[in-house]
Amino acid sequence: MDVRLNEVKNRIIEAADKSDRNPTEVKLIAVSKTRTIEEIDKLNDLGFSDFGENRVQELERKIGMRPDYKWHMIGSLQSNKVKYIIDKVELIHSLDRKSLAKELDKRAKMDDLIINTLVQVNVSGENSKSGMSPNKVMDFFEFLSTKSNINVVGLMTMAPYTKDELVLRKVFSGLRKIRDKVNKDFYGTDQLIHLSMGMSNDFEIAIEEGSTMVRIGSAIFGEYNY
Ligand SMILES: *Cc1c(COP(=O)(O)O)cnc(C)c1O
Repeated sequence: MDVRLNEVKNRIIEAADKSDRNPTEVKLIAVSKTRTIEEIDKLNDLGFSDFGENRVQELERKIGMRPDYKWHMIGSLQSNKVKYIIDKVELIHSLDRKSLAKELDKRAKMDDLIINTLVQVNVSGENSKSGMSPNKVMDFFEFLSTKSNINVVGLMTMAPYTKDELVLRKVFSGLRKIRDKVNKDFYGTDQLIHLSMGMSNDFEIAIEEGSTMVRIGSAIFGEYNY
């Protein structure tokens, strides 16, 4: 794992250099779904504390064991499960609909906290991908402006599984353009800082296109054995 991690770190630095960015602008979130707590601890020992999970049950179990790590919810989230994790996660990457926003705001108020989220956008338009369609984003931000316990700090997307650089670039630059437009036309300030984009297959291109959070699983931990 150490070797793979170093390789990923170097590739992040190279991609940042290539696009004249500072590598410290890119946070590595280690996607720890299906991995054991021992594997996760090992990474923590190497200095990483941000972990991403895509299922509430597994996330909750791991938070129970390691409450001090920073846990990111990166998978689709059912409203009825919000209550189990809202006071324990660092950031929710997958806010993609009004009903979920209502529930997050309601539960955050009950717990007297502000929940940090990203809005997930389906830039590629693939049916299999969750996230809201780009043409609904502005309206969604209007809606969110009435939800005082939600703090949106950026956008998230998943690219299609392909090696086609052109396709990937278009998706990642597409998300960046949506972020810039929301900042300019809705906030009038740089409220949305983050772009959570880039996985094992495509993180270098995502970084070149402005990613501030890469969600990387298999390139660090090895292939999944489901
Ligand atoms: C699994 C997963 C990742 C990581 O994928 P890898 O290909 O293993 O890097 C990133 N984001 C989400 C939402 C995931 O579910």
